[in-house]
Amino acid sequence: MSVEILKEAGVLRGGTPGAEDLALIHALSRRALQADEVYTFCVRLCDNEIDRDYERFPGQTLEELAALFVGKSGGFDHQWSALSQVARIYRTELVREPGIQTGAGEPGCFLKGYAYMLRNEKNQSLIEEIEGGIKKEVSVGCAVEQAVCSVCGGDMDSCGHVKGQTYDGRLCWAELVGARDAYEWSFVAVPAQRRAGVLKGLRGGAGAQLEYEAALGRKYLAGLRSEVVRLGRLADPGLDRALLVKIAGRLEEPELAALKECYEGRVAQSLGGGPQLSYQTAGQETEAQDGAFLI
Ligand SMILES: [Zn+2]
Repeated sequence: MSVEILKEAGVLRGGTPGAEDLALIHALSRRALQADEVYTFCVRLCDNEIDRDYERFPGQTLEELAALFVGKSGGFDHQWSALSQVARIYRTELVREPGIQTGAGEPGCFLKGYAYMLRNEKNQSLIEEIEGGIKKEVSVGCAVEQAVCSVCGGDMDSCGHVKGQTYDGRLCWAELVGARDAYEWSFVAVPAQRRAGVLKGLRGGAGAQLEYEAALGRKYLAGLRSEVVRLGRLADPGLDRALLVKIAGRLEEPELAALKECYEGRVAQSLGGGPQLSYQTAGQETEAQDGAFLI
C-alpha cells in the first residue's frame, strides 16, 4: 500500500558547477560534460513542516526520499503532452534549519535537490527564466507507505480523525512515513496554484505514476488557463474577466497554448519590447482570482 504525494517546492539558486558537483553529474550523464556546458540550480523539494493540506514529511521520511530523488528528471516543457525532460537531480541534501521548530515539535529541516541541465540554445530561455526568478516553483511527487494520524497513531485512511480538525485541543495532521518512490518533477506554469495537489490514498504500482502525471497535467492546464486570463486582460483591458475565465475553462491545451502565444505577442507589442516583458506582471492576479482553476 502507498499514498501518492504531490507537493510544491521552490528554486533556490543557479550557477556553474564546481569540480565536486561535476563529478556527480558525470556519474549520471552519458558523456563527460565540461563545467561551462552545464547549468546547475537548487530546488527545495520538501520540508518537514505541516503543510496547508495538514500533512508533513517527518525528517526520517525526508532522509529516505533523499536517495530516491537522485537521478530523477525534471520537465520544463510548455507542452504538457510532450513534456521534455531537460533537468536532472544529481545530489540531494537534508538541510537543518536551526531555530525553526515545526508545528509537530520537530526541528525544521528540508530536502534540497541539486539539479543540472545543459547550457544549449534550447534551454537558454529556461535558464534565463530561472535566473530571473520566474520559474520559481516546481511540483514534486512521491509515494509513501502510510499516512499516519497525529492524534491516534492509526492509519489516516481509516481511523476516523479528520486532518485539520482539532481534538481536545490537538491539531490532527498526517505524518507521511515510509518513502517508497520519488517521481519526476516539473516546473509549474503559474506559481499561484498552491493548493493544486496532493494525491490521496492511491495504491502503488504501475498506475501510480500515471495518476501522478494526470494530476500534474491537470495542474498544468489550470496554470495555463489562469495565464491566458491574465494575459487576455493585459492585452485587452476591456475584456470581461468572468467571460475570459469561462472561455478559457472550455479550451484544451493546444487552443490555450495558441491563445497564450497570441496574447503574449500583443502584450509585448503594446509594451514595445520583447516577449519576455509579458512576464513582468506575473503574480499580480491574486490566488483567490485564480481559484476558479484549482483542482
Ligand atoms: Zn486518528
